[in-house]
Amino acid sequence: MIPSLNPTFDVLVVGGGPAGLFAAISAAERGASALLLERMPTPARKLLVSGSGQCNLTHSGPVAGFLDRYGSSSSKGAAKFLRPSLFGFSNADLAGWLAARGLDLEETEGGKIFPASRRARDVLDLLLSEAKGLGVELRTGTRILSADRSEGGFRLFTSGRAASGGGAASGGGAGAAAGKALILATGGSSWPATGSSGDGYALAAAFGHRIVEPGPALTGVVAERSAFAPFKSCAGIALRACPIAVHRGGRKVAEGMGDVLFTHQGLSGPGVLDLSRSVRAGDLLRLPLASDPADAAETERRLLAELDAHGKRGLVRVLASCGLAETLARALLASCGVDAELKAALLGREGRKRIAASLSAGSGHPFPVAALGGWDEAMATRGGVSLDEVDGRTMESRLEDGLYFAGELLDYDGDTGGYNIQAAVSTGRLAGASAASLI
Ligand SMILES: Cc1cc2nc3c(=O)[nH]c(=O)nc-3n(C[C@H](O)[C@H](O)[C@H](O)COP(=O)(O)OP(=O)(O)OC[C@H]3O[C@@H](n4cnc5c(N)ncnc54)[C@H](O)[C@@H]3O)c2cc1C
Repeated sequence: MIPSLNPTFDVLVVGGGPAGLFAAISAAERGASALLLERMPTPARKLLVSGSGQCNLTHSGPVAGFLDRYGSSSSKGAAKFLRPSLFGFSNADLAGWLAARGLDLEETEGGKIFPASRRARDVLDLLLSEAKGLGVELRTGTRILSADRSEGGFRLFTSGRAASGGGAASGGGAGAAAGKALILATGGSSWPATGSSGDGYALAAAFGHRIVEPGPALTGVVAERSAFAPFKSCAGIALRACPIAVHRGGRKVAEGMGDVLFTHQGLSGPGVLDLSRSVRAGDLLRLPLASDPADAAETERRLLAELDAHGKRGLVRVLASCGLAETLARALLASCGVDAELKAALLGREGRKRIAASLSAGSGHPFPVAALGGWDEAMATRGGVSLDEVDGRTMESRLEDGLYFAGELLDYDGDTGGYNIQAAVSTGRLAGASAASLI
């Protein structure tokens, strides 16, 4: 016997991250009674660690420029799906909404937008106070593990497998709440200690939704150990605005551009993080070790000119004149099997070719990928609830009336720079407004 679940709310929101908070606020602004359920003792723990605790909320510039900052494996594509929510509550709208409630913002040189206090806590306090003022009921420490359809709405349970294909309850479970509309905003799977460990996938699947296999995104790569051994000493060295290509089975499958950072076991930095959604173990990352935009032939010609002009110099010095830090020059020479103490004039044709290729944007130095950084490291999740079964104009399920989705639970993931929080906010606001329109 399933216990009675009174009172019944207009809108139930599962997950108290930025998507869930904005969904509940947006529903309550429209006069709906909203219940926000959060499994952790306090909400939005991921928001609190975002931007190293400073919270890079969004990015500057026209919102149209956001559209190609997201990836997705759904056939609909992230840009098409996110367009209505991003345009409906844009970066400018978010900034204006926060400023109207007393939060000063600050923009960095690269266009990232933060609270001027650089405290994520200030953003969360503002959202909680807004939600409270609007009468949103927040229930923390409540982990929703199943949901089903009931007459006139949905029921949520803290245990058991209540939902059966979105139909009637198949097993008990402790009743937690009932409501007319249900918004799932449980986030992805990265940084599970913050509370987002992927519960929403099972909740959505129980209503028949397809889940695109989740994987870590916005994460560094672990390079294959022996190929990377010469570069271990390069940890901390950064290459600015570096073109990066991802090769699989001899074919280029993705490319990007951004700063790259050498770590003790591989590569990181914004350029690699943003591209990581397209990288798999076994791929080859190719990047020029000198940020030289020239093609391979031109780089070889330049290298040759330097070698000819300075035949008595050691190779490390010659490479320095091509823009390489000494540690990186030594690592490159070691990985090309060339003695770092060799005089330039004595470098053979094969060695010259290999070095030139590693410097050139045309070919780039190959770094075989052993693995991607794991869930504890990834700042976002690729995959999730397929966009093909959710209406991007309302965030409503195409399979179940009254069921909505918001935030990182969906099959999109954004670049670094504030794009993920903005998408969570925009989809949350749209889901809340759409759900409230049912009452
Ligand atoms: C270290 C780090 C730094 C980041 N920095 C930035 C940044 O500076 N800028 C940016 O744009 N993005 C950043 N991101 C990404 C960004 O924080 C997320 O994309 C965003 O928080 C997603 O919002 P969300 O509301 O969809 O999900 P989440 O923030 O993950 O919130 C989901 C909530 O649902 C709750 N929940 C999960 N399951 C259940 C359940 N069964 N029952 C009840 N509650 C449940 C969770 O506890 C959580 O509170 C960062 C991420 C990390 C990990």
